[in-house]
Formats: sequence, structure tokens, C-alpha cells
Amino acid sequence: GSDYRVAVFGAGGVGKSSLTQRFVKGTFSDNYVPTIEDTYRQVISCNQKSVCTLQITDTTGSHQFPAMQRLSVSKGHAFVLVYAVTSRASFEELIPIVKMIHEVKGSGIDDVPVMLVGNKNDEPPSKRQIPTSFGEKASKEWKCGFIETSAKNNDNVQELFQKLLAMEKKRQLQL
Ligand code: GDP
Ligand code: MG
Repeated sequence: GSDYRVAVFGAGGVGKSSLTQRFVKGTFSDNYVPTIEDTYRQVISCNQKSVCTLQITDTTGSHQFPAMQRLSVSKGHAFVLVYAVTSRASFEELIPIVKMIHEVKGSGIDDVPVMLVGNKNDEPPSKRQIPTSFGEKASKEWKCGFIETSAKNNDNVQELFQKLLAMEKKRQLQL
């Protein structure tokens, strides 16, 4: 099909909506707005000569019902797993999500692009609970990509989605 579906997962407050808004609209807000699941669409280039629709679903994180989460995973082509570098708990919330993605995708998991994202890297070192090396090590265990971002400062947001699309083997996708 011509849709490429990306789901963004992570605990409440890590910056899922901020990263999505920053990427899609180029904006950022300091105000916390709890999300109702929302999908954004953008046209991207596919296999050099054609286009497809990049569909990004900003999930409600752990407030999503388990059955809804599994459905988002079974429909999704690629996944963005976000924690905040200032919150160890937010990193730990990703562990069951990684497990569930592996369960739902089964043996096809090797072909599924996944990016692990440490957001809020603009926060001062005194507030950091997850070192960069820790995120890197986890991404190697989970065989996924890794990047640290700041939705606030627009640091590595475009790069995050570029890296994710570059991991897709079945089509050649470009922003
Ligand atoms: P979500 O619940 O995962 O969708 O998180 P939000 O995108 O709603 O962000 C939660 C809070 O964190 C908001 O107050 C945002 O302004 C703030 N926030 C999001 N991204 C960043 C970031 O990169 N740096 C900092 N310092 N704050 C951020
Ligand atoms: Mg949100």
C-alpha cells in the first residue's frame, strides 16, 4: 500500500506529542496537553519515483488500553519509543512495550524499524537520570536505533525520523 504507519509510544509526559508536533508543524509548547490519540499525515518520497503517506500516530502512552496498543502495533510499520532522559521510570515503562512489539511482530521483527529516543536532552546534567551510554546499550540489546533529542530546542528531531525511515528495507523512504 501507499501508507507508511509509524506509532509513537512512551510514558505520559516524555514528549511524544511535542516531538510529533515539532516534526510535523515545527512548533513547541511548554504547556502540557494530555493527548487523545491523534494521527498526522505527511507526503514522503517512496522508491525514488513515487510518493507515499507517512502516517504518524501520537499514542496516549500507557493510558491506552492493552488491546488498542496491540492493534496499533499490528497495524504499524515502524515504531518510535520515547523516554525522557530525566526520568528512569519513563525508561522502565518502555520495557513491556518492547516485549509486546516483539510478541506481536514475531519472527518479522528483524524487518521492523524501531528507534529508541531519549528526549529532553536540553535539561541540565543535574536533572539527568539516564546516561547516554545507558540508552545506547539498551538499543544494542533491543537491536534498534538510538538517538537523543530535544523537542524544545529542535535538536535531532528531523534526524530521528530520517533514521527511522532509513531503517526500512522493503521500500526506499525519504522525507
Ligand atoms: P507526552 O505526554 O509524551 O505527549 O508529552 P508532551 O509532549 O505533552 O510533553 C510533556 C511536557 O514536557 C510538556 O510540558 C512539554 O513542554 C515538555 N517537553 C516536551 N519535550 C521536551 C523537551 O525536549 N525538553 C524539555 N525541557 N521539555 C519538553
Ligand atoms: Mg501526548
